[in-house]
Amino acid sequence: MPAYRAPRGTRDLLPDVAAGLNRLQGIARSLSVRYGYREMEIPLFEQSAVFERGIGECTDVVEKELFRLTPRTEESEAWALRPEATAGVVRAYVQHGMQTWPQPVKLSVVGPMFRYDRPQAGRYRQFWQWDAEAIGDPGPAVDAEIVELGYRFYVEAGVPEVQVLLNSIGDPACRPGYLETLKAYFRRHSAELPELELRRLETNPLRLLDSKDPAMAVLVAAAPRMGDSLCTACAEHFAAVRAHLDALGVPYRVEPTLVRGLDYYTRTAFEYYRRGAEGQQQALGGGGRYDGLVELLGGRPTPGIGFALGLDRVLLALEESGRVAAAEAPPLAVVVGADPADTVSRLRVAGLLRAEGLRVRAELAQRKLGRQLETASRDRAHFAVIIGDELAGGDVQLKDLEAGTQRLVPLADLARYLARAEKTHRHG
Ligand code: AMP
Repeated sequence: MPAYRAPRGTRDLLPDVAAGLNRLQGIARSLSVRYGYREMEIPLFEQSAVFERGIGECTDVVEKELFRLTPRTEESEAWALRPEATAGVVRAYVQHGMQTWPQPVKLSVVGPMFRYDRPQAGRYRQFWQWDAEAIGDPGPAVDAEIVELGYRFYVEAGVPEVQVLLNSIGDPACRPGYLETLKAYFRRHSAELPELELRRLETNPLRLLDSKDPAMAVLVAAAPRMGDSLCTACAEHFAAVRAHLDALGVPYRVEPTLVRGLDYYTRTAFEYYRRGAEGQQQALGGGGRYDGLVELLGGRPTPGIGFALGLDRVLLALEESGRVAAAEAPPLAVVVGADPADTVSRLRVAGLLRAEGLRVRAELAQRKLGRQLETASRDRAHFAVIIGDELAGGDVQLKDLEAGTQRLVPLADLARYLARAEKTHRHG
């Protein structure tokens, strides 16, 4: 057992997995550009208060999972690693006066998030998310656009059979009345409530609906539904979101018990699942409207909606369905030499080719030429560039390892020759 290991709940992403994650980040970035969500960066940590206020003190994310940093001195601020991006993005929106920009402001963040959760499959202490936010548009069309954007990500990533679960959780006009109805219902069943849920009943009753406790399933199934208590404005908004999604052909199912774990959500709430895996732990991603959040973090009242898609779970889903990331491409050429000791020439020639954008390995081991060529074949390189006495005259030998042919090529033409060969090889 090695003395040092990656911290519990974190993973080293070895090159194959890292390549898979990179591919997903590439799709996220490409979609952000196509849909007009501009990428930005926010710090990996914030004042804890940004999360406590912005996410809500009675949520699991803040109550149990916030990764708090111990201040080094008395006067240091209380910080925490970001458990999600929305609160930080909205903090930045307020701080930088983005309400004076043309609205809505559409933003995207890709990067690691941290939650001090109990580690298990698909639940890590450091994980990756793609986050997209549209701030300043009350919807409903933008709600549908963002739901479709997330859906498109799974399609392009190749995750089979993704389904959207959709609900409306009302707004400050209709939710308080519903919460009273909900509380009254659960109070009538208080004897059946587990300890944790009993406590939540008074602080955050909506959370009982997404309880992870199996003992709650029957009670939740029979609980009063937000959908029956929506005010006219919320009901119309929800109907319009659905009409847009129908027109866009995004497959969704209205799920009346879907609530989001975070307090600031209003109206539209949605989650992405693989069909048949709609269990509590299995959401691939989720999001919703948060019309109260900008004001909560000190800005003018401003509507907003966004999503967070977990990339680790997409990697797992792809692995489960046998769709692993493509293996890394072999080098186009390996530079080898007749003089085993002359690593300078090999590095110099490789450097010239790399500067032209070619994938090239220089053989740095001081072995005989025959052994060097063997490693080039083992690497599945298409060419070996052989440096010998011809270099004095400005030439190198170019061996086509696939065709088994060899020819003399002027060093000055080598990059162009290889680039052309690669192109015809790929497309020819
Ligand atoms: P949430 O903000 O909790 O709705 O999370 C959004 C998405 O991020 C989830 O659907 C997961 O895909 C992913 N996610 C959240 N927490 C974790 C975690 N601890 N480990 C891995 N992925 C996570």
